[in-house]
Parts: sequence; C-alpha cells; structure tokens
Amino acid sequence: MTNDNPSPLWIKDPLGILADGAERGIVVKDGRIVELVAAGRAPVTPAVKTFDAGAHIVLPGLINTHHHFYQTLTRAVPAALDRELFPWLEALYPIWARLTPEAVDLATTLAMAELMLSGCTMTTDHHYVFPKGLEDSIDIQVAAARRLGLRVLLTRGSMNRSRRDGGLPPEAVVQDEDTILADSERVVRRYHQAGDGAMIQIALAPCSPFSVTTSLMRATAELAARLDVRMHTHLAETEDENRYCLELHRCRPLDYLEDCGWLDGRTWLAHGVHFNADEFERLARAGTTITHCACSNQTLASGTCPVCALEEAGVAVGLGVDGSASNDSSNLMQEVRAAFLLQRGRYGIAKVSHRDALRWPTKGSAACAGRRDVGAIAVGMLADIALFKLDELRFSGSGDPLAALVLCGAHRADRLMVGGRWIVENGQIPGLDVADLIRRHSAAARKLQAGG
Ligand SMILES: [Zn+2]
Repeated sequence: MTNDNPSPLWIKDPLGILADGAERGIVVKDGRIVELVAAGRAPVTPAVKTFDAGAHIVLPGLINTHHHFYQTLTRAVPAALDRELFPWLEALYPIWARLTPEAVDLATTLAMAELMLSGCTMTTDHHYVFPKGLEDSIDIQVAAARRLGLRVLLTRGSMNRSRRDGGLPPEAVVQDEDTILADSERVVRRYHQAGDGAMIQIALAPCSPFSVTTSLMRATAELAARLDVRMHTHLAETEDENRYCLELHRCRPLDYLEDCGWLDGRTWLAHGVHFNADEFERLARAGTTITHCACSNQTLASGTCPVCALEEAGVAVGLGVDGSASNDSSNLMQEVRAAFLLQRGRYGIAKVSHRDALRWPTKGSAACAGRRDVGAIAVGMLADIALFKLDELRFSGSGDPLAALVLCGAHRADRLMVGGRWIVENGQIPGLDVADLIRRHSAAARKLQAGG
C-alpha cells in the first residue's frame, strides 16, 4: 500500500466535521493533526497539498474496544441461536476448541477489514481460546494488523478454570497459570509499544470470573503493573454471572474484581450491565472504564448497560461490537446507532443525542484504551480519521450531516486515515482481495462448524 503523505495535507472544506473551529477542515503533517482551519480562514501551514472533502463528513477514527475476532467463524450457528450467555457459550466452546492458526489468521483479517470499512482506525481484540496448536494466536494477530495498517490494542486473553474446577469451558480450551503468565510476558515484551503514537499495544485479559481462577486474576494484575500494560475482562454482563459470583465467591462481581486487585485505572471492562449505584461511584473513583456492547447485550438478552448513569458518576464509557457470535457483525458505525437507540429509549431525549452517541466510540473508547493521542480531532492528536459520504438512498433528503450519520444508519466509511496514511480509499482496502478473503474465511468456518 502507498498513500503516505510526506508533505502537509489539508483535508479541505468537509461537508461536516466532529470538531469545533474546523469548518474549513484540518491539516495533517507527519502523522498528526497540526492545524484546525476555521470558517473564513486558510491554513497557515506552508506548502499544503489538498484533499477535497466537500462530499465527506470527517469523524475522529472510531475505536472498537471489545471483540473476539475468532468468533467471525461462528456467526449465526444453529446450535447457539436463541440461547442466553451460559448455554450459548456451552454450545460454542466445542467448536472453538477446533480452531487452527490458519482459521485465526483468516478470522482476524476479516474482522479487521470489516471494522475498517465501518470507520474504525483502532481496535482491541480479546482472544482467550488457546487449544493446542494455537499458542501463536497473538503473533498471528499482530502480523495481520501490520499488514492492514490498523492501530491495535490486542489482549493476551486466558482461561484456566475448566469444568473440572467448577468453571464453564471444557478442558481442551484452557491453559495452566504458569503457561499463561509466561506467554503474557512474552507477547508484551515482544510487541507492546509504550506511549504516544503506538501502533501495537498488548493488554492482559483473563476471560471472565467464571473461567479463570482467583490466583490467575491476582497474578495477572501484578504482571500488568510490573509491565505497565492495561487489563481487560468481561464483568457484570448477566444476572447469571451475579448469582454465580455470589455462590462461588460470596460477593458481587465488582467486589470480587476489587479483591483480585483489578479495581484500577488500568482496567476496562466489557458490558457493565448489572452494576448498582454504589458500584458506579467505586468504578469512577478507581478510574476503571466500561465498554458498552449494545447489540450483543440485546442479542443475548443480557440487559441494558446504564451508560448515562455511569457517565454521570464519572465513568468513561466506550463502545465495542463484541464477538461476532453474539452481535453477529463487526460494524462499529452500526453499533453507534444501536447504542443511540437503546440508551435514548432508556434515558430519554434530553440525555441522549446523536453527539453523545458519537462521543462513545471516540473519546469514550480512547479512555477505555488508555490513549490520549486518539479519539478527537484536535491539534497534536494522531491523524486517525474516518470519512463518510452521504451518497446512498438512506441519506437522501437529510439536513444535519452529523445527525444523518447516526439517524439514517451510516454503515460504511469511504476513507480512513491512520497516522496520516490512507488505509481505506473509495470504500476499499488497497491490496486486499475481499472476495478471495470471504471465500477462504467461509470455507474455514464451514470446516470448523462441521467438526474440523
Ligand atoms: Zn465479549
């Protein structure tokens, strides 16, 4: 892929932009936003090339903060349809136990491409299934991100509490604590880039309280502190989980998390559906953040994340599409609309506007990822932006361009820039043969679902 922009680029006169004082666009140089161009002004940055954005709406690149890429191979699986979380997982674990490195590579590439074409410039992934032969899963994902030019926060997931120890997953998909911790340290030391401008970061991510031992939760927190990386897990997703936690640990999930040393500013949690008001305050004080997964929570009938109450208490909330077996799509722009509708239905018109919905996958998700250099269009931020057009039937007749993206259901970015480099142009990913990827990915999915 080419498209690097060594000289300053003025993204000129956009139809709309999610930034104040940038009516005439922005100037990008050396991978960063160096100037906002206000109405009636021209750039002061010298020797500017221009990109005419007259047909585009410019957003900060969307950031997906929860996913399980491998699950793109198990979308709409008949045995898992119409089931709640625990029986749904039990139907899928045996299929996931048959994953191969080739399947993980195809699933990762496909999920990343799907996210990019929906406007994502950065994504996380939560890969926690490590059957024999899949020890290099994170290495495979890093390679795919580099090929596509996507900014990532990949997590080294884990499970070590199988059915034998009172957990949910079968023996074939779990690893022992020593193996998990050693490999976690290996992938962090090998791939994690610290600080501003990082393209690849690694976090540590035990799957959930019902698939990991207390000992591993605690050791993971200690390792994350020592290596200075973030931590991620599922929490407070369902009522089942609350009951399980009360039975096994005699406390609620957040109490358990705190007891394990996880109620911390390094931690971001997927779901956060079943917290109470006292817990909102504790999350806020700790600086722990929440990823709202609107489609997944609705598909599995898990409940509705109290997004406005969390934000009012001071908890940052980002968005995530969640794994493709529970969404089943990896389209973050569609997730924005789903979250907007769900939260407006819960909290009313005064509390949820289209601008709130656009804040969640940008500023909110950046907080979940622990990044201050992405998630907003402002001078000094990385040049990670998503450009959408309003040239489809669904947008015809719309007035406010930013509102139209959310209300009319935008689902496909026309262009995407990461660190000043175009990685999507004219709705395509240069160098990626999408038809061939679909053919190979669906063949791998058929094989996996049929029993290897
Ligand atoms: Zn998940």
